[in-house]
Amino acid sequence: MLFKSVVGQHELKQQLRQTVQEGRIAHAQLFWGAGGYGPLPLALALAQYINCTNRSDDDACGVCPSCHKIQKLIHPDLHFAVPVNSTKEVPEAKKPITDHFFPRWRETLLANPYLNEQEWYETIGIENKQGHIGVNEASRIMEKLHFKSFEADYKMMVIWLPERMNVQAANRLLKLIEEPPTKTLFLLVSEDTTRIIKTILSRTQLVHVPPIDEAVLVAVKTAQDGLPEAQARKLARAAAGSYSRLLALTAIHDDTQEHFAHFVALMRLAYTVDGIALMAWAEELAQTGREHQKAFLLYAAQMLRESFMNNRRVPEVTHLLHDEEAFAGKFAPFVNERNIEAIYQAFNLAIAHLAQNGNAKIIFTDLAMRLAIQIKA
Ligand SMILES: [Zn+2]
Repeated sequence: MLFKSVVGQHELKQQLRQTVQEGRIAHAQLFWGAGGYGPLPLALALAQYINCTNRSDDDACGVCPSCHKIQKLIHPDLHFAVPVNSTKEVPEAKKPITDHFFPRWRETLLANPYLNEQEWYETIGIENKQGHIGVNEASRIMEKLHFKSFEADYKMMVIWLPERMNVQAANRLLKLIEEPPTKTLFLLVSEDTTRIIKTILSRTQLVHVPPIDEAVLVAVKTAQDGLPEAQARKLARAAAGSYSRLLALTAIHDDTQEHFAHFVALMRLAYTVDGIALMAWAEELAQTGREHQKAFLLYAAQMLRESFMNNRRVPEVTHLLHDEEAFAGKFAPFVNERNIEAIYQAFNLAIAHLAQNGNAKIIFTDLAMRLAIQIKA
């Protein structure tokens, strides 16, 4: 990973580059911050910068053999230890360690270096269990670091979420972390340093990763995604310094925009009692996936409930799109005290029928007709 591919964090990047340029690389560094702030991408960028054979003042070159292999996570001197647990493929008897899951880890990390703990557990199918870094992993770490580096200047061990390391594993690794062989680097990446075993914590140099500047997140949305400034700012503010949260909110935002358009169209058509257009609307929605249909109905029901039944408190996702007054104003001709309850019930009925695997076209046509009756009532 190049420094320039890491979102924001300009000051911290500069500090990290300086330690390399001045030959002051601490042998055990603990990157600490919420996953969405980018501690893992920063640790990877540092690893690449250190081993690049043609680095500049600003960044690794991105094309030398070392950069090439680190970017693809296939460098023989770049190792990982991450929390795992037993799965169907890797039962307890096999003593699960990172190596068992490495192809999956590599693929997941390449796709999203801002991944969080839960996403990783879902990826390997242990979402109901806690992952951990146990004593077998510690032994494997020692084996891997025992030999001189193959190609790189530095041998690197990235330990992701050391807060999941148990006491036996920590005890086994203490001496190695305190006095690693020459040209060996530990890069620990933690979201919660309060849960790291103290003896490990005290042997590392803390690299505090702060929230990403809001201005940087706004720039990401305006420059890269072409979003209007005001909407970009709303998203960036709600993301609170986290790039992964920004991505998640963007996805919600995109869906919400689509649901909102469907909802407005439905209300307008019901108001004009245009039977043919209503049928076409139902037909169009019936052709989308079932999950999408369900999401739309839930969105509409939630919005009706929160915006019109409970003192017009507009839900957060809707708020990302519209300001409260304009939003309620749009629906003033359609929704009022007389029909809100019945409209809400019509959506709930559709949700129930969809859950029973009813015919989507019939369900949406029925919904459209009920709304036409209510709105004209
Ligand atoms: Zn390079």
